[in-house]
Amino acid sequence: MVIKKAELAAVAVRPGGYPKGDMPEIAFAGRSNVGKSSLLNLLTGRKRLAKVSGSPGKTRTINFYCINDAFRIVDLPGYGYAKLARSVTEGWGDMVETYLKSREGLALVVLLADIRHKPSAQDVQLREWLRYYGLRLSVAATKADKIARGAVAAQLGLIRETLGLSEEERIIPVSALKRTGVEELLEAMESALAPR
Ligand code: GDP
Repeated sequence: MVIKKAELAAVAVRPGGYPKGDMPEIAFAGRSNVGKSSLLNLLTGRKRLAKVSGSPGKTRTINFYCINDAFRIVDLPGYGYAKLARSVTEGWGDMVETYLKSREGLALVVLLADIRHKPSAQDVQLREWLRYYGLRLSVAATKADKIARGAVAAQLGLIRETLGLSEEERIIPVSALKRTGVEELLEAMESALAPR
């Protein structure tokens, strides 16, 4: 798949603000600072489509981008930023769960996890929701350039085990810095969008 066109379609807090019209969607989720904006910009070839955070965790909206006039990429709000007020972080769960359970066209959720760390409690929570709602999951292990090649397999194993991934749930090491893993991720997206 080649992304030729990417346009902001909606910025929403509640379902009333989600874009209308049944187009399949692929949602991206992960904790603040995991590298989600950098990866979305790389995937879409747009330098400033999603804002790379100077102040992590400020954006509490769901951003919908229309891709190739064919599907949407959905940027879910980042979570787990310690310095954020409780009142703001509490809203995260409602906002994300409401989105996950109400979107019929949701073809895939890409969960981003920093390749250096064990997934957090909120990553596991997200994974539980996906299982509960029967949603398809791929994991992108971000910032793969930050660890030695020899350490990759062990870290992927830790992520796989902590999230309890099944055999068919893919985990793809990516680096926005080195521009690696993009092809594999686009393939996973394409196969999720293909009619089954
Ligand atoms: P977001 O909060 O998840 O949207 O994360 P950002 O895309 O804003 O990135 C957070 C920080 O990690 C920024 O300082 C980025 O430059 C850095 N970063 C993002 N992706 C990579 C990567 O693949 N490799 C390295 N080394 N740094 C990255």
